[in-house]
Amino acid sequence: MPQGERRAKQAYTRGLSDYERFMSYVDTSDGPDACHPWGRYINDTGYGEFDVTENGRQRKHKATRWLMGYLRGKELGPDEEVMHEVCDNPPCLNRRHLTVATHAENVADMVRKGRGYKGKTHCKRRHEHTPENTYIEPSTGRRQCRACWAVRREEKRAARSTPASGAVTQAAST
Ligand SMILES: [Zn+2]
Ligand SMILES: [Zn+2]
Repeated sequence: MPQGERRAKQAYTRGLSDYERFMSYVDTSDGPDACHPWGRYINDTGYGEFDVTENGRQRKHKATRWLMGYLRGKELGPDEEVMHEVCDNPPCLNRRHLTVATHAENVADMVRKGRGYKGKTHCKRRHEHTPENTYIEPSTGRRQCRACWAVRREEKRAARSTPASGAVTQAAST
């Protein structure tokens, strides 16, 4: 966008509501069924970010969360996530492509679609990727195996207890 045009747009957006400003950053030019990519800052996980002034303070929102919270009139809770049910395209903000789901539902959906671990059904330690055993990092969308966490915890504990075993023997001999 040329400088002059950008300045004109900034001046114009000053009188807009948050929602109107939000939508002015969304590219809907490919039609109502296409993806509507975010035209402002996109973070390194591919999601758009939207700054809103709330009670005199700037607050950064994930664009998908802000939009879905606004549309239903209530901010998303900590256990709720926005899924790109149709397109799997993180910067997309077409509300027809978006659904709000709880974290557990989101994981179940990924597992059902064979996503997560690139469609593999088991992790490298042969734990099955069930919804219960899968954790998705909310910020990155990366999948983790919960059973592996337990294994790694055990390994760490075993490593720690090895030098301590001498002390135990000593204690037992007294
Ligand atoms: Zn989309
Ligand atoms: Zn595992």
